[in-house]
Amino acid sequence: MSRVYNFSAGPAVLPEEVLEQAAAEMMDYRGTGMSVMEMSHRSSAFQEIIDTAEADLRELMRIPENYKVLFLQGGASAQFSAIPLNFMTTGKADYIITGQWAKKAWTEAQKYGEANAVASSADETFTYIPDCSDLPISEDSSYVYICQNNTIYGTAYHELPNTKGKDLIADQSSMFLSQPVDVSKYAMIYAGAQKNVGPAGVVIAIIRDDMLEKEVNPLTPVMMNYKTQADAGSLYNTPPCYGIYICGLVFQWLKRQGGLNAMEIYNEEKAKVLYDFLDASEMFKGTVRKEDRSIMNVPFVTGDDDLNKKFIAEATAAGFVNLKGHRTVGGMRASIYNAMPMKGVEELVGFMGEFEKRNLK
Ligand SMILES: *Cc1c(COP(=O)(O)O)cnc(C)c1O
Repeated sequence: MSRVYNFSAGPAVLPEEVLEQAAAEMMDYRGTGMSVMEMSHRSSAFQEIIDTAEADLRELMRIPENYKVLFLQGGASAQFSAIPLNFMTTGKADYIITGQWAKKAWTEAQKYGEANAVASSADETFTYIPDCSDLPISEDSSYVYICQNNTIYGTAYHELPNTKGKDLIADQSSMFLSQPVDVSKYAMIYAGAQKNVGPAGVVIAIIRDDMLEKEVNPLTPVMMNYKTQADAGSLYNTPPCYGIYICGLVFQWLKRQGGLNAMEIYNEEKAKVLYDFLDASEMFKGTVRKEDRSIMNVPFVTGDDDLNKKFIAEATAAGFVNLKGHRTVGGMRASIYNAMPMKGVEELVGFMGEFEKRNLK
């Protein structure tokens, strides 16, 4: 067996301990004589899996009692529609556009009402987070929407926007469980699992109870109605059972690592190794304004397309894979999620240093 260092933005690296545990439990999950994949979602064994996953997530994130935790399908992208359908009750909402994912959510919301872009960093290809201290939030806005960590561009909010009292909804897909967050500051947090938490096919949503009492758009598909899902304990229909099980194993792994405070320290140390190298390098440069850098997704360039290609090819051959930047940014991107070990980042930086020596004119 030979494992690579996988810097993919998603689906992405998972903890080896979790993969090994899943493999060990594949044929016979804890005496049931079957795999979790073969198990009824109405069975007591699966109920225990989903209940434990929720309890562990609540503990990790210190989720207050007045929030529901949902395990959904449809990817983060389905929430782009579900959010305005469920929550745009005044016919108006405000969006902050910090990249493609926020823009897609905003574009989708325009189908259902007046979705205003109250700030944007499109003018500089989303390389920064706009000043959000005094935004023109609509008086009757139903909510303010952000993408808190911008997977493609490598920016992150280090301070939440001033929503002027409006409910905040955040797409945390590529930062979920990478650091502690104060859940009580949000009306809703959601994340596609395949970035930092588990396999593709699961979306985790954390929603404040009063949000679920709103009058939803009557055309809301039942599968997108958060209250229906909440009332059914995420079991309105067959949920992504196996994915939820893997997420649960990741939650337990995170608890063994010391929880989110420990993960934040570790993730910051990892990111520092890479950013310090980029800041000192004569060949490789980060693309993002320093104060807005993400600790999860790190885009960088050499300024020369041929050199970028050469680097990606040689890195791949050396076992550092999926470093190609998003097609809209070019260059490289290293996603260094929770499960990427420090050793992977250190070895990458070592490889970059050698590449630089060999190729610097
Ligand atoms: C990947 C990603 C999405 C899209 O996720 P899907 O599950 O493919 O729909 C949305 N938002 C962010 C921040 C992402 O990183």
